[in-house]
Amino acid sequence: MINLLDNIKRVRGRLENAASKCQRSSKDITLLAVSKTRSAQMIRQAVEYGIHSFGENYLQEALQKISELQSLSLDWHFIGPIQSNKTRQIAENFSWVHSIDRVKIACRLNDQRPANMKRLNVCLQVNIDNEISKSGFMLDEVESAVKEIIDLSNLQLRGFMAIPRYQDTFDAQREPLAKLRKLIDKVNDSLDNSNKLDTLSMGMSSDLEAAVFEQATIVRVGSDIFGNREPK
Ligand SMILES: *Cc1c(COP(=O)(O)O)cnc(C)c1O
Repeated sequence: MINLLDNIKRVRGRLENAASKCQRSSKDITLLAVSKTRSAQMIRQAVEYGIHSFGENYLQEALQKISELQSLSLDWHFIGPIQSNKTRQIAENFSWVHSIDRVKIACRLNDQRPANMKRLNVCLQVNIDNEISKSGFMLDEVESAVKEIIDLSNLQLRGFMAIPRYQDTFDAQREPLAKLRKLIDKVNDSLDNSNKLDTLSMGMSSDLEAAVFEQATIVRVGSDIFGNREPK
């Protein structure tokens, strides 16, 4: 049995500790609870302990939970791989998408975002370690993708997301995360003040401290909140 309240307190403590060590305020960092494979009941419990933002990877499973928990008005973030035939339901049901890996997906989400909803917040997923097995834009593709996506009127391009390769020391963890931080600074230099990107979605259970040091604004934590996942 996991103790959800203890886990959430521990993760918040780690965030606060890391933030104070690098002179940041933990208020500037959103704790996104990654709730893939977890029940609606468990999410309800996390809401009681102060979590409002949830990350989901699998659309059908997510839609079920979103509908069941509709009355709680939570912030739902889609963080998984996106097939083009799934964009409509993503555009209609989420407030954030972190995993844009092709311009075409952004265009579809823009076309399909309902007119009566706020702009959909999006991040470009960046393949920060140049891994063949991972999706996301390569570093040298990001600037041209930003130019194409930034003017889509039903989207709000917020920044970048990365899932770095696993590393077990703090310094090794910081290295790819620093690349993402430098990338957002560079891209922002070329954007108008009204279009500046403000979001770095990086840091998971094992590297959230390193991510805070490298200016993460959203950390995505699954297992250290909800316990280890059953293999799918
Ligand atoms: C599953 C997942 C996470 C959470 O990972 P943990 O190691 O369980 O904290 C974060 N981001 C993405 C994109 C994921 O798929």
